Amino acid sequence: MSARPKKSFGQHFLHEKRYIERIVSAISPRPEDQVIEIGPGEGALTLPLLAAAGKMTAIELDTDLIPDLTARAAAVGSLQIIHADVLKVDFTALARERGVEKWRVAGNLPYYISSPILFHCVEHAAAIADMHFMLQKEVVDRMAAEPGSKVYGRLSVMLQLVCQVEPLFTVPPGAFRPPPKVDSAVVRMRPLPTEQLPKASPDRLHAVVKAAFAQRRKTLGNALKQVMDTQAILAADVDPKARAEDLAPADFVRLALIETT
Ligand code: SAM
Repeated sequence: MSARPKKSFGQHFLHEKRYIERIVSAISPRPEDQVIEIGPGEGALTLPLLAAAGKMTAIELDTDLIPDLTARAAAVGSLQIIHADVLKVDFTALARERGVEKWRVAGNLPYYISSPILFHCVEHAAAIADMHFMLQKEVVDRMAAEPGSKVYGRLSVMLQLVCQVEPLFTVPPGAFRPPPKVDSAVVRMRPLPTEQLPKASPDRLHAVVKAAFAQRRKTLGNALKQVMDTQAILAADVDPKARAEDLAPADFVRLALIETT
């Protein structure tokens, strides 16, 4: 316990009890749930989650933390720790192997790879019931931003098209050891049902959203030149004089669905 936190692994261990309790209560794990935690660290969230769920899985990259966590968890419930980089864990295959219908994913994420982890989880959304993550507050603001906001961008559109994004509360730096330089926030994400998912090809959608926000001050007519012409933008019922930040996520789907030559 209380090993020296490693910067290279993004280790900021939660120590303030009231925030730990708020996160666990936001998740409210039940014994029938299949909880999987990303980066359990010293177990600040793991042990209370395990106490409520009785059994759970955790994915940790830092081998040094595993023996102590395994020992402390033994008295609480059945914890299976997977020693791996979470970005290499196939949540869908793991669910199939274990006979899990849907995971409840949780984690105080390592901030150096928070966006890649979000996109990785979203790729496996069909195997996930919900996600509760601690992230930099600035990232949570971008995830939940609405059109017209300065921080509305690629992350907002790509996540909101596949998940319901619900910011829950802010956590100050002093709640962690060592304190990070920025405020943090907890967010809940619930994958949308299949029938509400965008019908456009994911690659095309990525390309359109990326081009639109790469030059966010330009009109769409200009910003999208490499991916579609003005006629195609009009055919999607979108104003070529509008800017990316004016469009709702659904407008990007219509743009991505237009056939271009
Ligand atoms: N959950 C603990 C807590 O709240 O105190 C630790 C959170 S700390 C911010 C992030 C954790 O993720 C660390 O335990 C770190 O070793 C682990 N981690 C870092 N990179 C990882 C990766 N690629 N895959 C899995 N775990 C990782």
